[in-house]
Amino acid sequence: MGLQAALHLIYPPQCLTCDARVTTDFGLCGACWRETPFITGLVCDHCGVPLPGEETGKPEHCDDCLTIARPWSQGRAAMLYKDNARRIVLALKHGDRLDLARPASQWLHRVAEPMIKPGMIVAPIPLHWLRLIKRRYNQAALLSTAVAKLASLDHCPDLLIRRRHTGSQEGRSRDGRFANMAEALALHPRRANRVEGRHVLLIDDVMTSGATFAAAAEACIAGGAIGISVLALARVAKDA
Ligand SMILES: [Zn+2]
Ligand SMILES: [Zn+2]
Repeated sequence: MGLQAALHLIYPPQCLTCDARVTTDFGLCGACWRETPFITGLVCDHCGVPLPGEETGKPEHCDDCLTIARPWSQGRAAMLYKDNARRIVLALKHGDRLDLARPASQWLHRVAEPMIKPGMIVAPIPLHWLRLIKRRYNQAALLSTAVAKLASLDHCPDLLIRRRHTGSQEGRSRDGRFANMAEALALHPRRANRVEGRHVLLIDDVMTSGATFAAAAEACIAGGAIGISVLALARVAKDA
């Protein structure tokens, strides 16, 4: 009997989000899986939101991305931010369920595959240092570390910094979110040379308006990056 099998006798693998037993580590039980809105099928090539219709092989865009300038080329999300996906994101963010980063990064890696380019550098959206002290870890950095490893790409956890405390984006209108984030992110002065001439993959736990990704992408482009892709664990969709 292998170590894994022996451990499973003592600690049978448990569903990530309930007490049900499952057959593999880091999995969801059938009921929780059905409650988790993973994004599949045709998606907006800019933000990853599901679109009606069939995949045509050419990039399609949602209404938001047709009206808001996106300073990045492609974007994907693993899940819609609702039901069990919302619980997973909040548990990773506030509940100290760091173990969720491993399955979440596998889901992220899967949806990121069409965006991966050789020589790409991976970086998380940073927390303000005050919030980092309070929370002790940046959930986006947990995800970006694991995704970079799975994709065999360079990872730079402190590529970006928050220039000022932007407060919560919650309760702000879409325009308010963009205004609040404008120029709030910058390249770390000692990391600035790492993006020149490269593609950058930016990772965050949640994408709502896209204002944070836009600020991060603009900072990377200002530093000479030649292309930006964005990746979120969960996408807030208006009608989801
Ligand atoms: Zn379950
Ligand atoms: Zn879109």
